[in-house]
Amino acid sequence: MTTGLSPERSGLLIGGRWRPGSSGGTFAVDDPASGEVIASVADATPDDALAAVAAAAEAAPGWAATPPRRRSEVLHRAFELLVARTDEVALLISSENGKALADARAEVAYAAEFLRWYAEEAVRVPGRLGRAPSGGNQILVRHEPIGVVALVTPWNFPAAMATRKLGPALAAGCTAVLKPAGQTPLTALLLADVLAEAGLPAGAVNMVTTSDPGPVVDAVLHHPAVRMLSFTGSTEVGKQLLRTAADSVLRCSMELGGNAPFLVLDDADVAAAVDGAMVAKMRNGGQACTAANRFYVDRRVAADFTQALAERMAAVRMGDGKEPGTGCGPLVDAPSVAKVARLVADARARGARALTGGAPQDGPGWFFPPTVLAEVPPDALILQEEIFGPVAPVVVVDGEDEAVCAANATASGLVSYVYSRDLGRALRVSERLEAGMVAVNRGLVSDPAAPFGGVKESGLGREGGQEGLLEYTEAKYVAVSW
Ligand code: NAP
Repeated sequence: MTTGLSPERSGLLIGGRWRPGSSGGTFAVDDPASGEVIASVADATPDDALAAVAAAAEAAPGWAATPPRRRSEVLHRAFELLVARTDEVALLISSENGKALADARAEVAYAAEFLRWYAEEAVRVPGRLGRAPSGGNQILVRHEPIGVVALVTPWNFPAAMATRKLGPALAAGCTAVLKPAGQTPLTALLLADVLAEAGLPAGAVNMVTTSDPGPVVDAVLHHPAVRMLSFTGSTEVGKQLLRTAADSVLRCSMELGGNAPFLVLDDADVAAAVDGAMVAKMRNGGQACTAANRFYVDRRVAADFTQALAERMAAVRMGDGKEPGTGCGPLVDAPSVAKVARLVADARARGARALTGGAPQDGPGWFFPPTVLAEVPPDALILQEEIFGPVAPVVVVDGEDEAVCAANATASGLVSYVYSRDLGRALRVSERLEAGMVAVNRGLVSDPAAPFGGVKESGLGREGGQEGLLEYTEAKYVAVSW
């Protein structure tokens, strides 16, 4: 397959120029559907990362001083260019990440919307002026760009996790160094091209690909020009980076792991709940931080829900994500398959029953079939760990209180789902759920216009919405008399 990248665009993007890494090294990117290498990209060293920060720092004053209207126009043009290249970008995402083309196309649309939303927000950065309570002076508050930002993204949404950071950063007037995931760097490199074609000045966004993220990100976070880290990835790595960021007292926006509960109350519309469950579970083959990880279903509707879900899951066609008609692609790599297999085996050993699926498929590629587990006991590891695969464990509960209690019994708090025909009841339950986001009678929450983020160990800060832009600003207070 063609990656759509010219040879120079598999290098590092520093100060508007593509160049090889200073070590001359490269690393391979493979297709999870076959395990075959599809491209090699430059392997940055910490020195390369420091050069990228220097380029971002040089571009920072000019971009911050660029009129908001102009910043908005660049982002809007990038939105249009990305949409126009949907087929090409979707194929690239599917090739390096494995997800089904339909999911990849949905991701391109989602990714592009962050550019459009923040094009619209760039000209609406708020400020305020008010009289001090003493009457002695005025309080003037301006939201100024925070400066150079370090952006670190995961492999599961290679386009959207990049634009969810780049959109607000650029709208606010910040410049950036982006380190995409080692498994999916190609989509980010293509996005760099889109931004350049849209008129983004050299150095405003720099891209550093590496096979050894620890030292590279460490160098970036210790550079005095860097003022913020925005990270999306696992809670484990997020905690490490929070410790590193403390050295320079960086602003941190952390979008970390989830363990989403999906509650089906006794008065739920079961057919609607199954539709929502398919979206919440199977988007990206379950490899989403928002993926429903634990299904708590009231005993009165449990048999109907579980049976219908198993039938729908069994009907999903698994295969190469690039093939038309594929509903579920491979997992991203062999360790991911091994992890899902371990969690399923543990649940089955404790008494869970697989109604469909249940064991990995032999290669080539990294496949685990859509699986529904019934009668999952509360101590099963699958209810405690993020599955990141197409497996739905169903737990029967008696009543709303038991469902809410089980849902909250985790250190994660990204998103929760609740189904009930009584909207007032569902909203009351949403107040009791410890999560940054709650989906009521829906299987999807993600929306560029809404604040996305978690509580507890799922993260700090919000991406998307007006909140997402303010993350990239410092509120400067000026005490003024006239
Ligand atoms: P990950 O292993 O934490 O990696 C995320 C990013 O951090 C990648 O770019 C990775 O680079 C980099 N990284 C890894 N180790 C590092 C280190 N020691 N120092 C600096 N950077 C390091 O997570 P992942 O497996 O890619 O993504 C899956 C996780 O992301 C899941 O837990 C999921 O829930 C979470 N996620 C959260 C959200 C959200 O919005 N809350 C959204 C999507 C995903 P390499 O790729 O080179 O290792």
